Amino acid sequence: MIAAVSTLKEYGYLRVDPCAWCGGPGGTIDHITARARGGTHSPDNLTGACAACNEAKGLWPLLVFMLLRAWVPVPPAGHNNGGR
Ligand SMILES: [Zn+2]
Repeated sequence: MIAAVSTLKEYGYLRVDPCAWCGGPGGTIDHITARARGGTHSPDNLTGACAACNEAKGLWPLLVFMLLRAWVPVPPAGHNNGGR
């Protein structure tokens, strides 16, 4: 839909926002409620996200994604699990 593409361009600045899910650099626009689940291109349904989080969130509802992140935490960059 032309109107939807226009809306995404209008809110393209979200691409430079930090990732809403991990706090790292963004780079993509994530639909908080996935379009396949009825989410829209409305600004209140869009947020900046890094590609890894955007991919991991996929079609999960937001609360399920947040719970999955809590259960399987992503180690901070540079974290060494083998050290004492
Ligand atoms: Zn992220």
